[in-house]
This record gives sequence, structure tokens and C-alpha cells, in this order.
Amino acid sequence: MASRTIGVVGAGTMGSGIAQLAAQQGFDVVVRDIEQELVDDGLASIEDNLAEAEEREIIEDAEAVFDLVTGTTDLAMVAEEASFIVEAAPEEMDIKQAIFEELDELADPDVVLGSNTSSLSITDIASVTDNPERVIGTHFFNPPVKMKLVELVTGHHTSDETLDRVEALADDLGRESIVVDDFPGFATSRLGLVLGMEAARMVQEGVASAEDIDTAMELGYNHPMGPLKLGDYNGWDVRVEVGEYLAEELGADVYRPPQIVKKMVRAGDYGVKSGRGFYDWDEE
Ligand code: NAD
Repeated sequence: MASRTIGVVGAGTMGSGIAQLAAQQGFDVVVRDIEQELVDDGLASIEDNLAEAEEREIIEDAEAVFDLVTGTTDLAMVAEEASFIVEAAPEEMDIKQAIFEELDELADPDVVLGSNTSSLSITDIASVTDNPERVIGTHFFNPPVKMKLVELVTGHHTSDETLDRVEALADDLGRESIVVDDFPGFATSRLGLVLGMEAARMVQEGVASAEDIDTAMELGYNHPMGPLKLGDYNGWDVRVEVGEYLAEELGADVYRPPQIVKKMVRAGDYGVKSGRGFYDWDEE
């Protein structure tokens, strides 16, 4: 029988969130990052979030859930133990291809390999493997425990069996899945990025403050969160990577990050994760 273990590659914002979600749903989880310090940071954030979930009575026993999660720097351990692996490493093709090439060698052919990429081509990622039929996009949203959607992206060679298995897994994780063909930006990022970059351009042009632009979309268009606050949650460093990639792939300047965003990223103001973005999160 396939193991009930989910492997997560990358213990950053999304990797730790996906690991937390899987553990809350009763899966064993092995999460890997490149250095022990990064693994420890990821585990600490999972532990904090679980303690908060217990306080809010979302889960009964934070410690029992946390016990389901193991951290490692060893990719082979993830490949050996998991029946499904989701990669949540930085949004760079070279990094992702290197991980998939290694995972493809290490993991049995019936292990499904998912990527949490927000925009990169699944076909391209899978092209470095010998088993591209088991590679699929599994795009979770931030934070994975709260956001109900998982966007499943089928690459050119993704098999129906892989899609079926991942749809069942999404169900087990309590997520709603949609299926999208491999096309730059899929369904979500392609639309979301336009809004985020254009809102940033409007701040740069002095059209209105970040707060007022967000309020415009929240109250005027009934968005639960304005595009600049959402970008702060997503991390502008990741958004810049995605925006530049979509601008090239789709040939549209509307995805290009404006100077204000590039400058923020150069200064380390990524958003919530660094304490400051369009908003000051240390004060919140
Ligand atoms: P992040 O920078 O917070 O985390 C990435 C982690 O991967 C880091 O801890 C880094 O050390 C680690 N890493 C780098 N190389 C690695 C390797 N070879 N093996 C294992 N770990 C490695 O980034 P993030 O925001 O969590 O984004 C991860 C992925 O999820 C990206 O593809 C991004 O586009 C996607 N995504 C992000 C969001 C978001 O809101 N942040 C939402 C949906 C999807």
C-alpha cells in the first residue's frame, strides 16, 4: 500500500504551510530544506502556527499534529518515505529542474512529483525527468491551511492516473481543486499578477495611497483583500520573479514589475516575511 507520507521540498513560506496543512489532515510529513537552520526555521513556524490553531480551537492537540512532521536536509529521505512529493523551492527554473532531476532518480516511479510553482511551465520542469507522466503542478495558496483552492496543472506528458491521484489527495487535504492546462501563469497568477503590478504602478504614479487602493478593491469590488496587501503576504520577491517570467512568456508589459517594486525587493522589503512591504508589518 502507498505510504501516507507527504514529502515537501522547501521549508519556506509555502513549504512549511503545506506541511502544516498535511499534518493537520493526519498525514505524516517529511519536509526538506538545504540547510539545517532553514529546516529549523520552517519547523518553528509550523509549531507556532499549530499552537495558535489549538488556541483558536481549530485543532485539539497541536503537539500531536507537530509530531507528524519530520525535518531533514536529506532529499533521499523524502524520496524514500513519501508517496507524494510537493516541491516548494524558489520560483527559478534552474532550481526546480535540479530538484526534479534528483527526485526522479531517487523516488520509485509510482511516487507523484508535484510542483507548487505559481507560474513556471510544468512541461519544462518535467522535461529533465525520465518519468514526466508523474509530474504535475500542485499550486497551493498562501496560507495553505486557510486557502481552499489548489490549482492542478497538467504538463504535456502528465498522465490521467497522476491527475486522478492528485485530485483524490486534494480532497483528502480538504481543498477544492481546479484543473488547468500548462500555460504561463495558469488561471490564477495570470490574472492576479496584472492586478498586483498595476496597483503598485498606481502607487508609484501617486494615483492614491496603498491603503486607499486596497480599500477601493475591498469595498468597491468586494475583494476580500486588496492587491497590495495580498502582494505583501505573497512576498514581492516571488512576485517579481513571476512577473518577469510572465512578461517574457506572454509578451505583455502589464506583468513587468514597476521600479517601486524592484526597489523594495532590492532593499529587502518583501512584505510580511521580512516585516515590511507596502505596509509595516512589524507594527501590526
Ligand atoms: P520561500 O523563499 O519562502 O521558500 C523557498 C524555500 O526553498 C527556502 O527556504 C529555500 O531555502 C528553499 N530551497 C532552495 N533550494 C532548495 C532545494 N534545492 N531543496 C529544498 N529547498 C530549497 O518561497 P515561497 O514563497 O515558499 O515559494 C515557494 C514556491 O511556491 C515558489 O515556486 C512560489 O512561486 C510558490 N508559491 C508561493 C506563494 C506565496 O504566496 N509565497 C503562493 C503560491 C505559490
